[in-house]
Amino acid sequence: MPDTDDHQLYQRAVAVMPGGSTRSTLFVAPHPPYAVSGKGAEITDVNGHVVIDCNNNYTSLIHGHADPEILQIVSEVAAEGTAFGLPTRYEVEMAETLRARTDGIEQWRFCNSGTEAVMMLIRAARAYTGRDVIVRFAGSYHGTYDAVVSPQAQGVPAAVSETIVEVPQGDIDAVEQALIHHRGRVAAVLIDLMPNRAGLVPARVDDVARLADLTREHGALLAVDEVITFRLEHGGLHTRYGLNPDLISLGKVIGGGFAVGAIGGRAEILSSFSPLSDGAVAWGGTFSANPVTMAAGLAALRRFSPSAVRELNDRGEALRTRLRDNGVDANGSGSLIRLIDDNPRALWWKLYEAGVLTGTNGLLALSTAMTDEHLDAIGDAVITVRNQMSD
Ligand code: PMP
Repeated sequence: MPDTDDHQLYQRAVAVMPGGSTRSTLFVAPHPPYAVSGKGAEITDVNGHVVIDCNNNYTSLIHGHADPEILQIVSEVAAEGTAFGLPTRYEVEMAETLRARTDGIEQWRFCNSGTEAVMMLIRAARAYTGRDVIVRFAGSYHGTYDAVVSPQAQGVPAAVSETIVEVPQGDIDAVEQALIHHRGRVAAVLIDLMPNRAGLVPARVDDVARLADLTREHGALLAVDEVITFRLEHGGLHTRYGLNPDLISLGKVIGGGFAVGAIGGRAEILSSFSPLSDGAVAWGGTFSANPVTMAAGLAALRRFSPSAVRELNDRGEALRTRLRDNGVDANGSGSLIRLIDDNPRALWWKLYEAGVLTGTNGLLALSTAMTDEHLDAIGDAVITVRNQMSD
């Protein structure tokens, strides 16, 4: 595969961006290929190489690329203006849609990324409880806000780290100990019910039930980060657990391919953001809830009905079963699959060359744009590459 164009672009990138990259999460050494276009389930790169897209912009493109219906709606809405210093009806419709899908999470606020959603969620929890400490699980990724990156990360003030308690992944005893040790100081326990970076293994039902009891008992909020997992059920993965989170963060699929984030929660918790309330938490966001994003997201979600969610999950289960039956270590649930490998970079490149784009840590996210032929080809490529690598 010739890489001259890639190489030239990367040389230019290195001169103007650190490491030639503006998204560390998608960097693969020596440098990633550059995308040119996407249509449905496929992407063409600058070298003319075509791949089946199992990355789907890190799980966010539920209907693949350049979906005709979403494009149509986006062009109609954009033709009327892309952003206003006034609210539009689209944000109201989106909040109503999310409330209906989540079985009544009462109030919503929008922003432009999952990182920003988690940031707002933590602010809301602290404002409502009047407490500072956030308990979260090591190994779960929640974006790049100070409070959710590694306490050892450069650039995070010690004062921030002092308000964070990181417990081992899935260790509910450690959560209980933290709640006892920091009695009266824990604002929220933050959980991703199927954390990608930690291996994409769904949380155990009894652990989640115990977590809900513990948070209630200690007056801490239960905050569920559904930025990735919302796609797994019509109302998000928490509905599978029968859970009523106090706060939830969303992103990715609810933007229909555009930059988005959202938080939802009980009205009394989100009331801190109300411009009508005393001591309101000031929160604007120049492009928050812009009509293009909201309309694209509404169009994407409309087509992601309970039966469409189920169908995509079933196809994911079938692919995962096929992979496991052929000796491939594959975690996940429904439409999200994680390949477990000691050498994710080599696996990424070999799969890319074989025509399949994954996340850099082996994550595959299916889209409704995939045909049975695509799914067969993905399975063939993964099985062949894994066999080659273990030879
Ligand atoms: N939370 C989770 C669970 C995520 O997976 C991510 C990003 N992959 C984020 C938050 C941050 O979202 P964003 O990249 O949109 O800032």
